[in-house]
Amino acid sequence: MTVFNFSAGPAVLPREVLEQAAAEMLDWHGSGMSVMEMSHRGKEFISIYEQAERDLRELLAVPANYKILFMQGGALAENAIVPMNLVGHKAQPATVDFIDTGSWSAKSIKEAKKYANVNVAASAAHTKYNAIPERHTWQLSKDAAYVHICSNETIDGVEYHYVPDVAADTNGAPLVADMSSNILSRVIDVSKYGVIYAGAQKNIGPAGVTIVIVRDDLIGQALPVCPSAFDWKLVADNNSMYNTPPTYGIYIAGLVFQWLKRQGGVAAIELRNIAKADLLYDYLDSSSLYVSRIARECRSRMNVPFFLRDESLNDAFLAGAKDRGLLQLKGHKSVGGMRASIYNAMPIEGVRALVDYLKEFEKQHA
Ligand code: PMP
Repeated sequence: MTVFNFSAGPAVLPREVLEQAAAEMLDWHGSGMSVMEMSHRGKEFISIYEQAERDLRELLAVPANYKILFMQGGALAENAIVPMNLVGHKAQPATVDFIDTGSWSAKSIKEAKKYANVNVAASAAHTKYNAIPERHTWQLSKDAAYVHICSNETIDGVEYHYVPDVAADTNGAPLVADMSSNILSRVIDVSKYGVIYAGAQKNIGPAGVTIVIVRDDLIGQALPVCPSAFDWKLVADNNSMYNTPPTYGIYIAGLVFQWLKRQGGVAAIELRNIAKADLLYDYLDSSSLYVSRIARECRSRMNVPFFLRDESLNDAFLAGAKDRGLLQLKGHKSVGGMRASIYNAMPIEGVRALVDYLKEFEKQHA
C-alpha cells in the first residue's frame, strides 16, 4: 500500500533523498566512512557543508550581506537566542514587538519576556487565531529592537501571504520571522527581513538542524549572558563550526536542497504547493461534512486544519484514513479536529488520495 504521511513535523522527506542516504550510509563517496563518522573539520564534511550552504543560498537567493548559520536547538531555542542576540546594543531592558498569530508566536512571546520588554503589538487570540490581525491595527513601539512574526502557524494553520514592510509596518525595526513550517515553500525576498530562522524538520530535513539567516549588521549585538554556542557572531565567524554542528542533519538537508533544485527550485515548488492547497481547500469549502475555520486570505498552504461538523465521527474518520495509508491526520491537541500537513515533499497524489477519501467518507455519512 502506498502511504502518505501528513505529519506536521518531523515530516515526510522526499523518497529520493532517503534512498540516496541509504545507499551512501556505509560509505560516503568512496571515503570508507558514513557521514555520521566524519570529523566536522575534515575535507569530506567541509565539502558537504559548503555545498549545502551554497545550495540554500541559491534556492532562497540569499544576498551576500546575509550569513546562513546551521545551528542546534530547534526553533524554540531560537526564541531565546533571537532576543539574546538582538538587544545587547540597546539600553536594558530593551523593547521588542510581537505579532501574536497562534500557538508558536505565543511561545516565542513567552520566551522573549525573559530577555526583553515584550510589546504584543497585535494578537488574534480573541478570534481563536483564525486570521492575522490587519497591519493597520498593529500597536508598535517607538524604538523596538525588532518586530517578530511567525510566517506560518503550524498548529493553527494561518500564513502570511505578504511580507510586512519595514518602513510602513514595523516602524523601521528589523523584521524577524519564524519560518519553521514554510521556509522553501514559496519565493521570498530575504532582503525584507533582518533575521529568518527555522527548525529543519518540515521542509529541510531531520530535526536537530536549525537554520538562521541573519543580516550582517545585526550580528555582534548579543547580551553578555548569551551562551557562546548561541552567539551568532561566534557561530558566523566560525562558519557554523564554533562547536560541532549537527553533521548528519546538515548532510540530509543538503540532499533535500539538491532535490529541490532538481524540482525546478522554490518558484516551481511554490506552484505545486498552491495547486495542492487549492485542491484540498476547494473540496473542504464545497463540503457539508467538513469545515475550515481559517479566514481565506490567510490560510496556510502547508498546514490545513479542518473539522468534521459531527465530531463524533472523528475516530471513524481517522481509522478509515489509516486503513488507506493516510497517516498522522489528527489535529493538534490544542485545536482538535484534523490537520493535513502538505509540505514540499508531499506529492499531489497524496493530496488527491486524501480528497478521494474525504469524498468517500462524506458519501458514507451523508
Ligand atoms: N515554530 C514553529 C512555527 C513550529 O512549527 C515549531 C515546531 N513545530 C517550532 C517553532 C518549534 O520547533 P522545535 O520543536 O524545533 O524547537
